Amino acid sequence: RTVYLNGEYMPETEARVSVFDRGFLMADGVYEVTSVLGGRLIDFDGHTVRLQRSLDELEMRSPISREDLLEVHRELVRVNEIDEGMIYLQITRGAPGDRDFVFPDPETTAPTIVLFTQNKPGLADSPAAKKGIKVISIDDIRWGRRDIKTVQLLYPSMGKMMAKKAGADDAWMIEDGFVTEGTSNNAYIVKGNKIITRALSNDILHGITRAAVLRFAREAQMEVEERSFTLEEARTADEAFVTSASTFVMPVVQIDDAVLGDGTPGRVAPRLREIYLEESVRAAV
Ligand code: PLP
Repeated sequence: RTVYLNGEYMPETEARVSVFDRGFLMADGVYEVTSVLGGRLIDFDGHTVRLQRSLDELEMRSPISREDLLEVHRELVRVNEIDEGMIYLQITRGAPGDRDFVFPDPETTAPTIVLFTQNKPGLADSPAAKKGIKVISIDDIRWGRRDIKTVQLLYPSMGKMMAKKAGADDAWMIEDGFVTEGTSNNAYIVKGNKIITRALSNDILHGITRAAVLRFAREAQMEVEERSFTLEEARTADEAFVTSASTFVMPVVQIDDAVLGDGTPGRVAPRLREIYLEESVRAAV
């Protein structure tokens, strides 16, 4: 695989980053994951806008322009022959040459930028989407700035492991009785014809897929309510689903021991998945 590191394309085995990089030492960095369908980028603009916001919130400078970033994404898709898959992009604060809690001077320490591809044939035609997934509930013990897409992913990673050990596919995180989001996705329930999802705040990541799916839902005259919902409410919902750049719209058929509806994906989530895939592929770049 060819990867991109600080302005250069190289084989993955040749890419080297300093041991003093603050991404490595302090999880001081941000990332984005953009999916590729039919060799084109889904929601590229949304991801670059959020990337810039994450960088701004952490007082980091972008080492690359939007135009160059698009070019790097396209070049990696081309050289690695990605038809369906993902592009991972990470920017860390760089390597000041020693370990220090204080941010280094941006004049002397350049950020480290890495991009690589993940080939995932069959990404859109996922068997999991036809069956639906099972989630467990876990406490949300993450920090208070979940709106910034940082590389601090230890707790979400532990959450996925807890789910795996429990025989489930993922975990929904609960704070004060309310569902915040999934380990790597936004969470939704459906009651009657109403789609309910937590409103945007610092408590959750502002999903790019969430924004698109809510827009498509409203355009299709579906009712959307942006408000918090409890785990109890979710357990008795008609349907549930999650959204993310890498899974699009994924139906949830079980939450802990509560089976939703008849235990199959239902009406709303599969329809939204269909609309999302159709519309986002049409708008892909
Ligand atoms: N919430 C969390 C915690 C995530 O990590 C992600 C994606 O990685 C999402 C939500 C979904 O965001 P997006 O739709 O932009 O992929």
